[in-house]
Amino acid sequence: MLKRAAVAATVVLAAAGCTSTGSAGPVTVTSNVTAAGVTAAAGSPGSASVPLSAPAPGSTTSPGSTGAGSASAGPVAASHPLTSGPVPAGTTVEPDGFQIRKLAPGQEAPQFIVFSFDGVGWDEKWQYWFDVASKVPLHFTGFLSGTYMLTKQTAARYTGPGHKAGHASIPFGTAADLPVEIGNLNKALSLGDEIGTHFNGHFCDDNTPGGNQWNTADWNNELDQFFALVENVDTNNGITDKLNLPAGEIKGERTPCLTGHKADLYPALEAHGMDYDSSFTRTGLSWPTKSTDGKIWQLGMSEFPTHGTGHPQITMDYNYYAQQEPHVISGGGSATPAQSAADSQQVLDTYGDMYKSAMTDGIHEPLILGNHFNDWNNNAYSNAIGNFALQYCGKANTYCVPFRDLVGWMNAQDPSVIAALQNHKSNLGGCPYLAWPKCDGKIKY
Ligand SMILES: [Zn+2]
Repeated sequence: MLKRAAVAATVVLAAAGCTSTGSAGPVTVTSNVTAAGVTAAAGSPGSASVPLSAPAPGSTTSPGSTGAGSASAGPVAASHPLTSGPVPAGTTVEPDGFQIRKLAPGQEAPQFIVFSFDGVGWDEKWQYWFDVASKVPLHFTGFLSGTYMLTKQTAARYTGPGHKAGHASIPFGTAADLPVEIGNLNKALSLGDEIGTHFNGHFCDDNTPGGNQWNTADWNNELDQFFALVENVDTNNGITDKLNLPAGEIKGERTPCLTGHKADLYPALEAHGMDYDSSFTRTGLSWPTKSTDGKIWQLGMSEFPTHGTGHPQITMDYNYYAQQEPHVISGGGSATPAQSAADSQQVLDTYGDMYKSAMTDGIHEPLILGNHFNDWNNNAYSNAIGNFALQYCGKANTYCVPFRDLVGWMNAQDPSVIAALQNHKSNLGGCPYLAWPKCDGKIKY
């Protein structure tokens, strides 16, 4: 089991956005080295080309749609001292090159943006995000559905709590899909992205029992199976492909449909050595807090007003879809391309509002964004979050990093520093964020 222990090593660091030398845990530099300009070792595991195939499991749509958006502007040129340049002695460096340092007195916190994806079982979207991350400094978190480590032929090796063997709310893939999915996951890991869990059968209120009904024993069962499906993907399926994901690197999760109860779920997370949850949403922008027992970071998505509406919405694709096109969700046809483009722009503008709020108040609350791999509403939501990455990752003092790096950074700060950031919202006079209509323009810092 890999721990976050310091590793004394002669480190070959990747420049920001480049391939790291492996998928091992963070490294603590014991002597000054320079990251900029150092070339990472080539040929890391999983970086071989992956054949484009039919959609992998979890796709709810037909193949062939384009994932690429119409993003234009690249990132603003800026210095990024935490991902390039000299590495002070004693600094912990995450697998993506992010350097975890303590804030100096009076220094502003970095602006974190966490991009996270549930399921991550569609090759086309993997290729899209690899392409985005090749253009801007971006690493992300993928929450894998464990059933994607099985196929239609081997599905019976999974039994969801309260369900029959081989059943799930999401489809199992084909034997041909599986090596493609493993290759994409290994490539992501080799690049420094993080893989967590979206659990297995995606059981929600439409196919009970699910997250809202499960007790701690059920969550433990589900997690036990997830870890086993990852570890045994080769023997379960009679293949030689392995997933380069040690159990100790699986540190966080988001539950299917954001279901579940903390009192049931969190003990199971702790029993599996996990650090954080991203299931339970939070009002507006704020610095994350820990669970009451101090063991689990609560990194839920925000409920933030959708641009131009004043209506708070969970910052996730399906929630925007339900708000913008409720008749389509309920089976009433499809949106026109023009309407979908307008929906996409509205979501992109919402992300921009969040960034502006966080930057304006000087507290730099982390932006936590979540999507599935999907092309709902003519790809409106993939385009919106992809364009946001292309336009904002790389801006000054802005770091698009996985949850792992955010957790590492918060753990490294003095508790008083974190407490000051967490408590800042109490100074806002009842305005949780600047874009809230009653607050807009009225907050002075
Ligand atoms: Zn999901």
